Amino acid sequence: MSASHRIVIIGGGITGTAAAVALARDKHQVTLLEKQRIAAMASGWTLGGVRQSGRHPAELPLARAAVAIWAGLDEMLGADVEYRRGGNLRLARTPAEVEIIRGIVADQQAQGLDLQFLPDTGAVQRIAPAISRNVLAASFCPTDGHANPVLATQAFANHARRHGADIREGVAALGIRTEGNRVTGVESSDGFIAADRVIVAAGINTPALLAPLGLDLPLSIKIVHVIQSEPLPPTLGPAFGVANANCAGRQEAGGRLRYTNARGDWPGRADAWTEAALAPTTSEVRAVVERVAEVLPIAGTTPIARTWGGLIDLTPDALPVIDAPDAIAGLVIAAGFSGHGFCLGPVSGLLCADLALGRAPRHDLAAFRLDRFARFVDRHAELTLHG
Ligand SMILES: Cc1cc2nc3c(=O)[nH]c(=O)nc-3n(C[C@H](O)[C@H](O)[C@H](O)COP(=O)(O)OP(=O)(O)OC[C@H]3O[C@@H](n4cnc5c(N)ncnc54)[C@H](O)[C@@H]3O)c2cc1C
Repeated sequence: MSASHRIVIIGGGITGTAAAVALARDKHQVTLLEKQRIAAMASGWTLGGVRQSGRHPAELPLARAAVAIWAGLDEMLGADVEYRRGGNLRLARTPAEVEIIRGIVADQQAQGLDLQFLPDTGAVQRIAPAISRNVLAASFCPTDGHANPVLATQAFANHARRHGADIREGVAALGIRTEGNRVTGVESSDGFIAADRVIVAAGINTPALLAPLGLDLPLSIKIVHVIQSEPLPPTLGPAFGVANANCAGRQEAGGRLRYTNARGDWPGRADAWTEAALAPTTSEVRAVVERVAEVLPIAGTTPIARTWGGLIDLTPDALPVIDAPDAIAGLVIAAGFSGHGFCLGPVSGLLCADLALGRAPRHDLAAFRLDRFARFVDRHAELTLHG
């Protein structure tokens, strides 16, 4: 085994906690700093879809590898993360959307994904009887699914602890210290922590940690509203999205429907949100329910238990940064997952470990380099939600 490294991970979402497992298992000295609590931000706000369908070709190999890990995650982490492999439907509501779905299926079949085209309402309802008769067609990926995001992220954190990682909740990273072009540690609200590797997996707060190092991660921050219903009997096996990706949903293992809808730009600073400021208003809740009930009628009649808002770290091309920039030795960045990083978490963690330890990464990371943004003129991608 290689020498043991002192590694600080900033961020207790699924990316940081999965990295902590990968590194602690290899007997490195891991300290994870989470300024709030495990899964306090995107990894707790999320819908929790675990999907390969609808992925950018550069992300598809990571998503396929992640889905293979999700299948054994309960056993690996010694905890029930409520992973369900019920498939993913992407629904067409209009003839134009049918053609979009047909194109996606052709493209992704060509990339080797088992994605089926369901050509009519009957075929969709045979997979999911709860879907509306107004849905004209769909794609269906049987190996997609969903999981409980808070349980999964906590399970990673707890497993890392069992392997000796020091997981510190309520401790903020204030700055990354360097000497020459090499990291030497992290200034934190608990004092200075020396490290020869620093992994930044701080979601929307990542750019603020990188800027003092002269690194620019351009993110736009989007608000997404989430609605969780009272529990229902088993009603919906697959997660679902729609052709134009403006809403998505699933039925949780415990029976609650959980569905999402994009709201627009977060106008404030990345560190200036409050739960109240993100929460949907009554009329916004009504609009989300109406949109989802168009494709899942039971959503329109099921009482709502809880609503919240979440923020998404959207990069200009809607792909993450998973990189160890040449400019600063020992620094690893894993952020900007752009609304689809929950599924990838188990693999993102392994990739962080590969980069931190200087191993050849197990997947091609060319599409995820930080320096690609230097070429971007248009710094805006559209946010898409797929379930
Ligand atoms: C509403 C919604 C729906 C989504 N739906 C899906 C989906 O269906 N499928 C999917 O795959 N993905 C989905 N996503 C995206 C997915 O949830 C995220 O990409 C993923 O959770 C990102 O995880 P992360 O660990 O990189 O970041 P986060 O979970 O945001 O974790 C970052 C952590 O860093 C901490 N932190 C920040 N700054 C500091 C600091 N200075 N010091 C210490 N700690 C710090 C934060 O408190 C936070 O806990 C969705 C996201 C949202 C918001």
